[in-house]
Amino acid sequence: MGVAVEEQVQRNIFTTSVDWVFNWARRSSLWWLQFGLACCAIEMISAAMPRFDLAERFGMLYRASPRQADLMIVAGTVTKKMAPVVRQLYDQMADPKWVISMGSCANVGGPFDTYAVVQGVDQVIPVDVYVPGCPPLPEALYYGVLELQNRVIRYDSIKKKQGKEAAEADRQAQR
Ligand code: SF4
Repeated sequence: MGVAVEEQVQRNIFTTSVDWVFNWARRSSLWWLQFGLACCAIEMISAAMPRFDLAERFGMLYRASPRQADLMIVAGTVTKKMAPVVRQLYDQMADPKWVISMGSCANVGGPFDTYAVVQGVDQVIPVDVYVPGCPPLPEALYYGVLELQNRVIRYDSIKKKQGKEAAEADRQAQR
């Protein structure tokens, strides 16, 4: 019993410390997946250009492959035809991964309350930070990134893993 408790304490102290170091590094090097869906993407691209410079200020390089990305910025209108592709790209990203929903369309469908548009990308993938606006300016995206950094530094790999295992067990049980 005593040994089990000691092991538990050691494991917790060890993993919490490692998590913090990893999270500190992750927070300042969030590589994001390069794609845009509509007009909001123009502001996202602007944020990456030298005037605003997400890369140099936040270490945010954009990547062409989901395998190399930690962050998906959903910028623009998510149509029902595009939704499965967004989901597939998200699934192809390695854990841990985060999502910023940028703009009214990605957040809630925006002005397009139609049969062809998903009314919020959170119906397709989990979202960590919502940036409001139509379109949000690069400064608003910056604010969203800062909010995300606050989340990343608190990321708990064990809880996240346990949560995923429980979700997977639920899915298996429902089959
Ligand atoms: Fe375009 Fe506005 Fe929708 Fe952004 S929120 S994609 S700017 S219509």
